[in-house]
Amino acid sequence: MHAPNVAYINYQNISDNVAQICKVIDKPVMAVVKADAYGHGLIKSSHAALLGGAKWLGVALLSEALEIRRAGIAAPLLAWLTPPGADFESAIKNDIDLSISSLQQLQEIYAASLRVGLIARVHLKVDTGMSRAGALDEFPEIVSELTRLCAANEIELIGTWSHLACADEPAHPLNAEQIKRFKSALEYMNDENLNPGIRHLANSSAIIGLPDATFDLVRAGLLIYGLSPTNVPPRNISLKPAMELRARLLLVKNIPQGATVGYGATVEVDKETKIGIVAFGYADGLPRSTDGSAYFLHNDLPAHLIGRVSMDQCAIDLGIDSVAKAGDEVIIIGAKPLANDLAKAAGTISYEIVSGIGSRTPRIPVPPENQVSEV
Ligand SMILES: *Cc1c(COP(=O)(O)O)cnc(C)c1O
Repeated sequence: MHAPNVAYINYQNISDNVAQICKVIDKPVMAVVKADAYGHGLIKSSHAALLGGAKWLGVALLSEALEIRRAGIAAPLLAWLTPPGADFESAIKNDIDLSISSLQQLQEIYAASLRVGLIARVHLKVDTGMSRAGALDEFPEIVSELTRLCAANEIELIGTWSHLACADEPAHPLNAEQIKRFKSALEYMNDENLNPGIRHLANSSAIIGLPDATFDLVRAGLLIYGLSPTNVPPRNISLKPAMELRARLLLVKNIPQGATVGYGATVEVDKETKIGIVAFGYADGLPRSTDGSAYFLHNDLPAHLIGRVSMDQCAIDLGIDSVAKAGDEVIIIGAKPLANDLAKAAGTISYEIVSGIGSRTPRIPVPPENQVSEV
């Protein structure tokens, strides 16, 4: 490997993770591939998820959805973050489902569909307690407008959906409350003679811990990349992390007792030690907040982060007896340490770690024989 850092992506693992979710849930799975598939590569991950049995793809931005279509992928595809004035015409022409949270969005999408002479496919998003996207005060008006348009075959309501705020804490009372509000929104639509279509609510955490949230389809993000949304691995799915991020040691050297390491001289070593310099810093996605509980693996041995993370580099304490030399590889995340381990040391979540790995790190597919091991 020539770049100092490489993220090896095992797409077979993504297929395998999706296949396990399909088996456990027994409902169609929408693979969520937003944000460059959580840093794993949008197109290759999309193909891998579909090979594993996902029936749908989900993204945040229209640009992500259009990229999927440009790659020739024809699977049902939902894009849920569209600002006013978005290119709805391209979305409709490319068979991209759009989410509706407001009357304005509905009107813009309908107007775009008239211009292109095609029927738009939409999913009505209900705000059940997240207070992010989703209809709340305008919900009854949107329902009456949609009822009229659907009855006239002017628009196609493909699904009705919402998003959970606390699914990673299954016992949190908001979960039951959101499920209840979602059901009453669906009942209201039924009463108004509006068929809600595919009902979907569950994300990765709900797939693991909230069977009541399954409905007709689940939206699986983090799990398909082989990571657990909580720091506890799920019981019924043996996740295979799809990313192994490796770096090469730029420099290995001994530093004497009393030396300080990094900006702010926040760490002073109490005895001579050997440190390794890694060209991976906060501009690459290693949060500056990461503390010394983080470790990388060198020859299967943990070497803890030492001193502050800089923009382009960081240092690890290899220990005085280490045989490490410049050019050796270290593993930053993979089956061990998990992205979750690094996230914990940085005070964040594994989502932010994998999606935050910058464009300076090439993503290289690995063949099945190099699979990172199961956890
Ligand atoms: C990102 C996202 C998901 C996937 O969440 P995971 O926890 O990664 O499974 C599902 N639904 C929506 C609306 C999202 O934004």
